[in-house]
Amino acid sequence: MRQITAIVSVGLFVALFLPNASPQGSPDWTEPFPPFRIAGNLYYVGSKGLANYLIATQQGNILINSDLEANVPLIEASIGKLGFKLADTKILLISHAHWDHDAGSAKIKELTGATYMVMNADVPVVESGGKTDFQYSRPEFLYPPTKVDRVLHDGDEVRLGGTALVAHLTPGHTKGCTTWTMKVTDAGRTYNVVIVGSPNVNPGYQLVHNQIYPQIAEDYERMWRVLKSLPCDIFLGAHGGYFGMEEKYALLKSGGVNPFADPDGYKKFVTQKEQEFRVELAKQQLTSK
Ligand SMILES: [Zn+2]
Repeated sequence: MRQITAIVSVGLFVALFLPNASPQGSPDWTEPFPPFRIAGNLYYVGSKGLANYLIATQQGNILINSDLEANVPLIEASIGKLGFKLADTKILLISHAHWDHDAGSAKIKELTGATYMVMNADVPVVESGGKTDFQYSRPEFLYPPTKVDRVLHDGDEVRLGGTALVAHLTPGHTKGCTTWTMKVTDAGRTYNVVIVGSPNVNPGYQLVHNQIYPQIAEDYERMWRVLKSLPCDIFLGAHGGYFGMEEKYALLKSGGVNPFADPDGYKKFVTQKEQEFRVELAKQQLTSK
């Protein structure tokens, strides 16, 4: 009995703390969340656990992330509640080529005819439906392969209807992990927006002697340099948990200063994630000797 309790406890621990280790992830990935305007023409249209952003312009809209296939109807409903249409999506972008951010891309392309733009190093993963991912190539993590229409390179701009986003290569979590930046103007003030791709070292990631991804640690180092160099007022990311989305949404509802303008929160987040990386790297270097 004690053994069973122990097994259940371990299972529970894995389910609670290692959400990225299973294709279904955590239950909040598919839990609806009220859509809302973050600032200017930038809107949150994601679920509770998976972040999606809509950038609305006079010439159609840009959508960041397609999530799990199961999330596509949620995204469509969120966009609809804000008075926009999924069908008006002209450009589809992603944070990085993991199924929780890109498995719904084939469906969204089919529904909208959007131009799919992906960072070069993530393109083979997207176009193979996850098969060439260095960590998650097992069948349960695969999804419909999706043709990329424009291959992006570090520093490339994506423009539509007067809005410009810049794609910053922030690799490590995936080889083409992308942090998006843009400027939004709201109530006469212009904000620098940063949408972090992912700074996480997932469970099982091999940072030393990784045969499939030898430069993984150097790539993470590059990411810290890039993230620390980006001017940030409005701090966002691929999961709401990065930037305290739920708490900030509640504050937004109560009025006052825009809680998503959080430059200190951004700096703290990057510092903390870099520390976590250094601890894990040191641990792996020690045990690999
Ligand atoms: Zn990921």
